[in-house]
Amino acid sequence: MAKKRISIVVPMYNEQDSLTILYQELNRVTEKLDGYEFEYLFVNDGSSDGTLAKIKSLAERDTRVRYVSFSRNFGKEAALYAGLGTATGDYVATMDADLQDPPALLPKMIEMLEEGCCDNVATRRVNRRGEPPIRSFFARCFYKLMRHLTQIDIADGARDFRLMRREMVDSILAVEEYNRFSKGIFAWVGYETRWLEFENVERAAGETKWSFWKLVRYSMDGIINFSDMPIRISSYLGLLLTVLSFVAIVVEVIRALVFGDPVAGWPSLVCIITFIGGIQLFCMGIMGQYIAKTYMEVKHRPHYIIKESNCENIKRNH
Ligand code: UDP
Ligand code: MG
Repeated sequence: MAKKRISIVVPMYNEQDSLTILYQELNRVTEKLDGYEFEYLFVNDGSSDGTLAKIKSLAERDTRVRYVSFSRNFGKEAALYAGLGTATGDYVATMDADLQDPPALLPKMIEMLEEGCCDNVATRRVNRRGEPPIRSFFARCFYKLMRHLTQIDIADGARDFRLMRREMVDSILAVEEYNRFSKGIFAWVGYETRWLEFENVERAAGETKWSFWKLVRYSMDGIINFSDMPIRISSYLGLLLTVLSFVAIVVEVIRALVFGDPVAGWPSLVCIITFIGGIQLFCMGIMGQYIAKTYMEVKHRPHYIIKESNCENIKRNH
């Protein structure tokens, strides 16, 4: 029987220091799994350091190393999409380059898929040790909000570290939207998921690519991509204010008829006008967010552009 093929997809943006450690660690793990054939699929997401050169030199020595390299930085989501689209394995794993997703979990994940218990094994960290507390706090709030606003359930601490069957990978590739929020898409495609838990690991080398504001943006994108709740809230708010102002008008008219109309209350008027103005702008902003997303979708721009690769099956502009 032919050996099962396992692809390990790793998005990389300025990871020259992590790459060597990751490669060694992957070798250490895969060496013991001799019933399988591996491919390491490194996606260079427009790094400005020596990442690409290092990948190429690994690829020269090791035929398992395949790579695609973007023409610029397109973001982790695009890199994951490109990696999944190029992977040829029966099982496909996605993981970060910085060893925060311990490759040592792979044998366990493979075993779980082989037992046939599920279609994909996902991982989550049970704590966030070593992370700035403020970041953990907002991350927790985000997952809570996400669970309330959308139908999909994303576990707190869920990583983009997974091992999936080919069917699931093909389903993910069929979700061709431009604004990609992988954690949501993994949940949206369904299939049976088993969770593997592990303790947080700190970055092996280099530094995080996520600033606080980048994370805020990422969370807002996640919510907007998977929920129409914000836009519904804005219309409820509009309705509520309409009702309130109608009641206020009736009260004012009666008061004027009964007590006369002494001119007063311009400060309260100003307050009300600014309040309503604020709410209107806020709601328009929400609408604007959705329109902006729609605009990007209808343009049908490619998700990424591949400049170089040693794989034959690439879609260069996709
Ligand atoms: N990454 C990427 N493109 C980007 C930013 C990040 O491919 O624009 C990769 C990065 O190289 C790493 C993974 O995404 O393999 C996760 O990034 P990072 O470790 O910086 O995120 P954190 O673990 O701090 O959330
Ligand atoms: Mg990391």
